[in-house]
Amino acid sequence: MSKKLFIKTWGCQMNVYDSARMADVLAPLGYRPVEEPDGADMVILNTCHIREKASEKVFSELGRLRQMKDAKAQAGDGRMIVAVAGCVAQAEGEEIVARAPYVDIVFGPQTYHTLPEMVAKATRAAGSVLNTDFPAESKFDYLPDEAGSQGVAAFLAVQEGCDKFCTFCVVPYTRGAEFSRTGVQILAEARRLVAAGTREINLLGQNVNAWHGDGPDGTTWGLGRLVRELAEIDGLERIRYTTSHPRDMDDDLIRAHAEVPQLMPYLHLPVQAGSDRILAAMNRKHTADDYRRIIDKLRAAKPDLALSGDFIVGFPGESDADFAETLRLVTDVGYAQAYSFKYSPRPGTPAALEHTQLPEEVKESRLAALQQLLNAQQQAFNQGFVGKTVPVLFDRKGKRDGQLLGRSPYMQSVYAEANERLFGRIVEIRIDGAHPNSLSGTVVTDEYHSSPIGTQTLEATV
Ligand code: SAM
Ligand code: SF4
Repeated sequence: MSKKLFIKTWGCQMNVYDSARMADVLAPLGYRPVEEPDGADMVILNTCHIREKASEKVFSELGRLRQMKDAKAQAGDGRMIVAVAGCVAQAEGEEIVARAPYVDIVFGPQTYHTLPEMVAKATRAAGSVLNTDFPAESKFDYLPDEAGSQGVAAFLAVQEGCDKFCTFCVVPYTRGAEFSRTGVQILAEARRLVAAGTREINLLGQNVNAWHGDGPDGTTWGLGRLVRELAEIDGLERIRYTTSHPRDMDDDLIRAHAEVPQLMPYLHLPVQAGSDRILAAMNRKHTADDYRRIIDKLRAAKPDLALSGDFIVGFPGESDADFAETLRLVTDVGYAQAYSFKYSPRPGTPAALEHTQLPEEVKESRLAALQQLLNAQQQAFNQGFVGKTVPVLFDRKGKRDGQLLGRSPYMQSVYAEANERLFGRIVEIRIDGAHPNSLSGTVVTDEYHSSPIGTQTLEATV
């Protein structure tokens, strides 16, 4: 009998990928994804610990779920299994079990391949199942091949974890040591995705460009080589990768931007700050000028490359002069889009112990100033497309009937009135309007230059 599975996902794209794979692992047990938690047979909260208030959000969500769980039991409708997954589970597993004993399963990011056993255990016995180990085996060796369709644009995890230990970041503690999947495994997963209708693959990793793995020829590949091999897959029209670290941006990967047409001209390359003093305190192990030089090389290889980044303001000890260096770096580089955050002390990280924490008001005013600059750059970048024609891969339905939504090569969201048969195809769109976070345009011609998408239907993939 079919059972209802609801997964709520917070945080990064890796969590989105993990949630999809959890659904794949549970599918053989009869679980089918649903859109609402009410009445579900299993609810998983896949959590993020990167910034503050994450655990409060989880506990308040758990309070609501407890009521739904009780209501389901009282109605004689069976048991709702409540599970907490992801980085909050990894970091605060024991506290969750103690504070919310009605939670049935708590598991970290490295153990979800064992979900069938955890569900069986939780069904048999009272009390919570806690599994926050870093197992010796890799979950990727145990995940099922038969995965549900991931849509026209899909994520594919190639690398996980981190050994870089930036002093502000929890990832090395919650995701564990850096680990790369093999090239063989990645190519096989990519071929399965393309056969199921995927046209764009976004390679994922906390440090994706640190990826290195054995290819089928027995040699060790880097990410540049992997991109070239993926580009050979018939029907795979677009390749992206995220998130990169400046220290791992090697020449072969930079050359791939010049040489592989399927590799999209967009790169998310976080720098975090523009002051060398702060970069050193963050343990980034590169200077602002190292970053500028990498950007110069990338732009020499791919002049139209659109850049994105991450920034943290208000790191402990950051002075006005340090912050001015961040603004200067942003001005020098010019971003198409970016993410910026107030520094948030994370328990267990070295920077959280510094005595030079900055007041909230300082962080807020610096964030406002930085965002003003970044927003102006984004607006100017988008405005430059008005009147131009760009190829858009339609991968979602728009808000209004008759509207499709997709991405330009530069990762901008683009919407247009378009016939449903253009869904899943790359279509030339003339841009008529630039908005803060998107572009709007008109279909130039109903002729499309990509192949139709096999068995997928619009309804099944949006
Ligand atoms: N590995 C990537 C890198 O090194 O750039 C980033 C991974 S992290 C999941 C995503 C972003 O969250 C970081 O780039 C950083 O800007 C932000 N972040 C991480 N820890 C933070 C903290 N303690 N406070 C504020 N922002 C943080
Ligand atoms: Fe976190 Fe990225 Fe630094 Fe690793 S490199 S510790 S994931 S910010």
